[in-house]
Amino acid sequence: MTVLFSAASTHAYEKARSRMVREQLEPRGINDPRVLAAMDRVPRHLFVDDALHAQAYGDFPLPIGEGQTISQPYMVALMTQLLGLTGKERVLEVGTGCGYQTAVLAALCEQVYTVERIKALHVRARRVFDRLHIFNLLGKIDDGTLGWPEHAPYDAIIVTAAGPTVPDPLVEQLADPGVLVIPVGERGSQQLVVVRKEAGEVTSRTVEDVRFVSLIGDHGWREQHG
Ligand code: SAH
Repeated sequence: MTVLFSAASTHAYEKARSRMVREQLEPRGINDPRVLAAMDRVPRHLFVDDALHAQAYGDFPLPIGEGQTISQPYMVALMTQLLGLTGKERVLEVGTGCGYQTAVLAALCEQVYTVERIKALHVRARRVFDRLHIFNLLGKIDDGTLGWPEHAPYDAIIVTAAGPTVPDPLVEQLADPGVLVIPVGERGSQQLVVVRKEAGEVTSRTVEDVRFVSLIGDHGWREQHG
């Protein structure tokens, strides 16, 4: 009976996931087939509280504890697509949170390095990675605005919290060529910025208005607001 029930609910989540891809991602310009396939495969509901499972595939962010949130599926897909991953990259993520974005990255590149400043979130995410047998990632508890110099340079860097500026250490730790995606702006509203390093030159462009939780650290905001 239990087995039947769990098979039925697994099927329901699979359906919710492919609906999410069809209705929230494809119509908004997510067209990288590898990104769409990863979003169709990674079980987003397992990264949030049991009580939120039914809402996990909705078109909105959700709370993950410690005053933090998991981004809306579209934002995860957009930021991932902007990295242009082919499968060979080494990627640095700042802001592990619940680990959902991390898992999507792990499905699309060779190795993910992920940094989270809040221990409880790091620990919870690691449990989910183990349960899902995701092994091509390494995580640590630290201030990710300093990057992770030991494993630099990174072909791609993604920051899932918003700072006042692009942290210098991250630009330094970016490979050439390399791409960095980060929300930058005020506390309450920001723009998604894509920084590219190519032939020794660093250029940046803004993509769209976004709203993220604060990046707290030496090269971010000084402390939590509110
Ligand atoms: N990608 C995450 C998003 C979580 S919200 C997810 O899918 O769940 C952003 C996360 O960034 C929060 O967990 C927050 O604690 C973390 N964060 C904020 N400043 C940070 C810093 N300087 N270094 C590492 N993590 C940071």
